[in-house]
Amino acid sequence: CGIVGYIGSQEAVPFLLDGLERLEYRGYDSAGLSVIDGEGLKVRKIKGRLEGLKNLMLEEPISAHVGIGHTRWATHGAPTVPNAHPHLNQNGTISVIHNGIIENYMKIKEWLIQEKGYEFKSETDTEVIAHLIDFYYDGDILKAVNRAVEIMEGTYALGVICQFEPDKIVAVRKDSPLIVGLGEDANFIASDIPALLKYTRNIYLIENGETVLLTKDKVTIWDEKGAEVKRDVYQVTWDI
Ligand code: GLU
Repeated sequence: CGIVGYIGSQEAVPFLLDGLERLEYRGYDSAGLSVIDGEGLKVRKIKGRLEGLKNLMLEEPISAHVGIGHTRWATHGAPTVPNAHPHLNQNGTISVIHNGIIENYMKIKEWLIQEKGYEFKSETDTEVIAHLIDFYYDGDILKAVNRAVEIMEGTYALGVICQFEPDKIVAVRKDSPLIVGLGEDANFIASDIPALLKYTRNIYLIENGETVLLTKDKVTIWDEKGAEVKRDVYQVTWDI
């Protein structure tokens, strides 16, 4: 339901929690985040209010400069901690947040289980995305996401991070809202503008079928056919 992501020189967790809170008005039943610190990829998930995630982060703080966060409105699978996003590949090196519905997830899931021996930990449609990206991953997370997206039918806004490429966030949009925020020494993703207003007013509105690669000081957008897109910066002039 709500998507946020941060890559930059500041702390990721405070932004992720604040951004998710600003998307609360959309409703949600669980929440989670994942970041990459010096030790690797880490995940924290809760059922219920964001307050629970905030408390968890106070009890077990993480200092990191890249991360993604999600508030879930369950469509496939009950609102439980295992079903909360982010979802990971089996060895916990790739992390995915997703808004929308993967219509052909059952077919993909059966193929991944029966043909490829993947093990699933949740009942969500989203988890297939993490394993599918893992299946295509050969050292280039952007390429793996692009391959996975070719197989997926349905609606999605995705945020993806990978432990082996901690200087990147990959995001994709199809029939689910997604924007990019341009900061100083930082870039952001979000499903809606209110999440970003405290941090930047310079926005790229991502269009259907586009893939985005974010590093701390660069944002690159490609269209559905893989051609690079030059997007004008949209300046937000209103306040919440
Ligand atoms: N279909 C996904 C799920 O049920 C995403 C739901 C959402 O957009 O929050 O986990």
